[in-house]
Amino acid sequence: MTKRDIIIIPDPVLREVCEPIATVDNEIRALADDMLETMYAAPGIGLAASQIGVLKRIFVLDVAKEDAPKDPMVFINPEVVWESEDKSVYQEGCLSIPEYYEDVERPALVRVKFLDRDGEEQEIEAGGLLSTCIQHELDHLNGKLFIDYLSKLKRDRVMKKFTKVAKHSGKI
Ligand code: ZN
Repeated sequence: MTKRDIIIIPDPVLREVCEPIATVDNEIRALADDMLETMYAAPGIGLAASQIGVLKRIFVLDVAKEDAPKDPMVFINPEVVWESEDKSVYQEGCLSIPEYYEDVERPALVRVKFLDRDGEEQEIEAGGLLSTCIQHELDHLNGKLFIDYLSKLKRDRVMKKFTKVAKHSGKI
């Protein structure tokens, strides 16, 4: 397993739409393992492939409580097949937007279809933090970030701040 570098806004890679994965082979499993290692090291509870510059439809997450055993999950070609009309609000953060947190409203429950690390088809219904996390990571695969749900004023402010940081460090 290799820890990869996490891409930070305003890098345009984060706005790319990721491509479906044709076959879940050892290369994809190695990618999933790298993503999990990168996520745990950050530390974070979710990571999408585009956040390490790989434009494939895969994300990993682990929403187990801190004192509980690790519960790594791998979602390949995920698709939301149903979402509740009920909404819930969570304070979200993102490894690509470090140390920035805001409340985001999303459907409280989602049913999601995906392939697991073995390429087996799975369908789960998720609520609570898992639901929010799945929706947040799935957005990444479509080039969408949680700041897109905020007011333009807030979004502009955070983009400006990170653009300044990137310029300062010579990244753009
Ligand atoms: Zn994120």
